[in-house]
Amino acid sequence: MGRAISQWIYLGGVKAFADGSLGSNSALFHEPYVDEPHNYGLQVTESEILYNMTMASEKSGLQVAIHAIGDRANDLILDIYESVVSTNGMRDRRFRIEHAQHLAPGAAARFGRQGIVASVQPLHLLGDADSATKKLGMDRAQKESYLFRSLLASNALLAFGSDWPVSILRFINNYLSLHITVYRLVVDINPLGGIKTAMKRIPPGWDDAWIPSECLTLNDALKAHTISAARACFLDNDLGSLSPGKLADFVILSTDSWDYFVAEGSASVEATYVSGERAYP
Ligand SMILES: [Zn+2]
Repeated sequence: MGRAISQWIYLGGVKAFADGSLGSNSALFHEPYVDEPHNYGLQVTESEILYNMTMASEKSGLQVAIHAIGDRANDLILDIYESVVSTNGMRDRRFRIEHAQHLAPGAAARFGRQGIVASVQPLHLLGDADSATKKLGMDRAQKESYLFRSLLASNALLAFGSDWPVSILRFINNYLSLHITVYRLVVDINPLGGIKTAMKRIPPGWDDAWIPSECLTLNDALKAHTISAARACFLDNDLGSLSPGKLADFVILSTDSWDYFVAEGSASVEATYVSGERAYP
């Protein structure tokens, strides 16, 4: 799956969109938004088109990743992936759902059963905790948001990432000019913040964890940010762990104790090595 264009550029696959986002009330849910009782969100691409695009990507040997945030969008993509597999048969295709933020009862188990990669961004939960409660109501928000531990318990491959670190990157391209507009930075790409957030789940201004039963152990969070993320990209032969034959990509942290990192929740990167060579500082 995928192909390397150079040592630095790897074409992994294609991304499509099933729905929008929670913040703009456009993520697609089974039940309406509490703050907008007639709105269930938006399906931004028709199911038939998503199915056809997935089948076409299969033919081209491209991995498929579909953005789904609301519970209904996630169910819809799980259904589409299921029917592609039943038509084309089982093989190692590592279908991904990007974000998988809100999952209806039973959906986390389907990720495991169907072998779907849950590609999630722990840092997003910090910004969503308050708005999920407001938009979905306490009960739905508690039961279905960022179910990292439930996904792992179902044996799903849980892969952490930062997502694209700007909210919108807009390209307007015509024959004469190329305008690039970059909007505000919303997410820090430093993976240490993601690891800490997945373990503690404490949004700004909160004293306690949001859905404590979904907090991960340090080991599970590290695994999601390393070997599982590499596996989710078909890059686990080269990346994801320090083992013979793989690239020696690693960082040296300011602490040699993970206990300290867990307790204090911080550490800084003192040096970065890429393919065994120091790249920073
Ligand atoms: Zn997305």
